[in-house]
Amino acid sequence: MIEGRCHCGRVRFHVSDTIETALECNCSICIRLGTIWGYSLIENVTIKSPPDGTIAYSRDQKNIAFHSCKNCGCTTHWEHLKPKADSKMAFNLRLSDPAILNSIRIRRFDGADTWSFIGE
Ligand SMILES: [Zn+2]
Repeated sequence: MIEGRCHCGRVRFHVSDTIETALECNCSICIRLGTIWGYSLIENVTIKSPPDGTIAYSRDQKNIAFHSCKNCGCTTHWEHLKPKADSKMAFNLRLSDPAILNSIRIRRFDGADTWSFIGE
């Protein structure tokens, strides 16, 4: 089980899953957000937020939406805008207990250029 919350606590996520790796991506948005993503199937991830509690931002392709707390600005998760049965959701492990990131492997993903993992 993994939990996380934005700085003000209005937006929270709860993941009924365990993860062994996280992903740090250098694409144009992730590098600006400073996120480290954990992933799980959509059915495992619960987002608790007030109505309209987040701002959703989509890149040009509009495949996924990045959500940030409207009050404190922390990026909490992203979701597929056209999810399939096996689609995953990503949650920002920077908002979770730091012990989680200390206990799992963080894989670096070259989303800026080669679209592959770096150093693997
Ligand atoms: Zn907040």
